[in-house]
Amino acid sequence: MNADRPPVVMVFAGTDPTGGAGVAADIVTLASLGCHPAPVVTAVTAQDTAGIKQFSLVDAELVIAQARAVLEDMPVAAFKTGMLGSTAAVAAVASIAEDYPDIPLIVDPVQASGRGDPLADEPLDDVLRMLLLPRATLVTPNSLEARGLAPDADTLDACAQQLMALGCRYVLITGAHENTPQVVNRFYGNMRQLESFAFERLPGGFHGSGCTLAAACAAGFAHGLEPASAVIEALRYTWNTLKAGHRLGMGQPMPDRLYWGGGPFRRRKPHDA
Ligand code: PLP
Repeated sequence: MNADRPPVVMVFAGTDPTGGAGVAADIVTLASLGCHPAPVVTAVTAQDTAGIKQFSLVDAELVIAQARAVLEDMPVAAFKTGMLGSTAAVAAVASIAEDYPDIPLIVDPVQASGRGDPLADEPLDDVLRMLLLPRATLVTPNSLEARGLAPDADTLDACAQQLMALGCRYVLITGAHENTPQVVNRFYGNMRQLESFAFERLPGGFHGSGCTLAAACAAGFAHGLEPASAVIEALRYTWNTLKAGHRLGMGQPMPDRLYWGGGPFRRRKPHDA
């Protein structure tokens, strides 16, 4: 047995039968980055690479039971949230996170798919603001989500300030939806912008890019990286997964989270992006 155990990352997320987003995205990302994923399922979706057909939410009590079973058995090094889908699920995850205040919490405040289909029964901005973000170590909204979470703010900087004022320690606002030549991602902490990371803009949109980024950030925290290092490494990793992405269905391409190699059965040569 290998004594050098991978850190366990608990993800709260919905399933996606395409394998592009949600639980599958988190599992492959975390495994690719040397973590052991512990997936707590919050919802089951029916979707293809073009859109969501339907979803069903897992009862909040069952979400709690899944998480507690693992937390009482394994040391968890980081929490990551994706699709939660309801106020009850946000409250459930917040109550678990409150019981484990030393475990970093990475929140991807997703309420809709990248193609705009809803992934929640009701708007969750208020409950995210009230219950989950005050406990978050890092929140990773895209610019549209940031504006939704801080509707009074007139700039992205002001959005980040408002999110940090709630108690969220670090904020990473991604820039893929902004009309800029490069994708500019802004990283905030200590009530100010700490860094800005610009990446070449890749054409089109990808299914599961936000999940990949937040899971990669959680991996960085789980490995004990400093927050800024966790974020830049996660951004670089995510960009490489997109650059090497595949169009496996008729809709959006999906990231290749094992672009760096991925084992003996791969036909493709390791991508050196
Ligand atoms: N979680 C689930 C279950 C999803 O189906 C999706 C998108 O379809 C997402 C999260 C968010 O995906 P993205 O990373 O593309 O924002």
